[in-house]
Amino acid sequence: MTTFSDVKVRFAPSPTGKLHVGNARTAMITWLFARKMGGRFMLRIDDTDAQRSRDEYVEAIKQGFEWLGMNWDDYAHQRGRMDRYKEAINSLKASGRLYPCYETSEELGLKRKSLLARGKPPIYDRGSLDLSDEQKAAYEAEGRRPHWRFLLQHDTIEWDDMVRGTQKFEGKDLSDPVLIREDGTPLYHICSVIDDIDFNITHIIRGEDHVSNSAMHKQMFEAFGAKAPEMAHLPLISDAGGGKLSKRLGSLSLEDLRDQDGLEPMSIISYMARLGSSDPIEPFTDIAPLIEGFDFSKFSRSTPKFDPAELVRLNARILHETPYAAIQTRLPKEINESFWLAIRENLERVSDINHWWTVAQGTIDPVIEDPDFIAQAAALLPEDPWNEQSWKEWTDAVKAQTGRKGKQLFMPLRKALTGLDHGPDLGVFLPFMSPSHVRERLQNRKAA
Ligand code: GLU
Repeated sequence: MTTFSDVKVRFAPSPTGKLHVGNARTAMITWLFARKMGGRFMLRIDDTDAQRSRDEYVEAIKQGFEWLGMNWDDYAHQRGRMDRYKEAINSLKASGRLYPCYETSEELGLKRKSLLARGKPPIYDRGSLDLSDEQKAAYEAEGRRPHWRFLLQHDTIEWDDMVRGTQKFEGKDLSDPVLIREDGTPLYHICSVIDDIDFNITHIIRGEDHVSNSAMHKQMFEAFGAKAPEMAHLPLISDAGGGKLSKRLGSLSLEDLRDQDGLEPMSIISYMARLGSSDPIEPFTDIAPLIEGFDFSKFSRSTPKFDPAELVRLNARILHETPYAAIQTRLPKEINESFWLAIRENLERVSDINHWWTVAQGTIDPVIEDPDFIAQAAALLPEDPWNEQSWKEWTDAVKAQTGRKGKQLFMPLRKALTGLDHGPDLGVFLPFMSPSHVRERLQNRKAA
């Protein structure tokens, strides 16, 4: 029977869009930590925002996880836990840590503006904290409904972050967080803290955009009589130029890296597992060594740069080492093992194999710059079937007859045969080529 250590972590996406590479990286690091520690990994869907959450995004997140081989031991979604949040809210109200606020969003916006204009941080002024019952009744009579804020204690909040080191916040520098909307629905902060308590989460791993939330959450854990989990806040990744990676850019979603860019899951894993760490980014065809070597102490606080070109190079290096058995189901059925092994070194993406199959067996536009030379060479083509010696026999014969050698000899033949000035070793490739197509190509006639 599998034994798990006490470690339990969660990745908690909001299903309001495709999974962005930045979030995919957080998920991957959380998963690697769970596996390294022999702990449990939970996929928690933060779908309390009913307007923006969509089932299709939940499905896409799950498929993305499956594609990367990131299995989850536990699964939860917040929409199914509303009764539990209500109960928690009632207990906070009873203990006096939740207070009703009647400001409209326009009023709050004005307060923020005026603080900022005076060079002050836009911290909520607790304007609703001491409202009398009459004032509250007057607001209600106007048709206003309250939103509810958590009353922070004005103490020092401190923790030792696994990535950022000692973190220190003063309660007075934070705005009391809104836990309940005007329509009575609970917001992220309370749902997240209650889930982390109920699901016995031992380590919260998330992006550094949540650091100040974590300070508030620590007080909330304590208000519920629970100990806050350990925390790790990862720096957000930037684009290659150091700018912010936009969540709206489709091409930066996990789904698009798979479907549009045609990248291998092991490329994403190899890249994400080490990006921003002191370990070099290297191609891996198996995840086990990445789990084995995982350690938060290797991760730096500085912003890692996401470079799609580096990811594509890594993809190529991974394909160059991928055995046929590992990729066979994703290849067109006519591609056999010997063709794969002959061609894989020339691939950047697995779909490039289709091009080389067409070059070998289909119709392409040959490039013939010196028709006389190519006509001479065509007349010297060895009898088929061709084998590994055929290319050498042919080029030796062409060399002897024309006196050409080196690039002058090989490049025109390569261009006529493949239409390109680069590609696989033709000694290896020629036996895979259709002799009738090659003859037609050398005469610059399209195959029928
Ligand atoms: N749903 C939140 C987000 O996507 C979760 C943050 C957390 O890990 O608590 O930012």
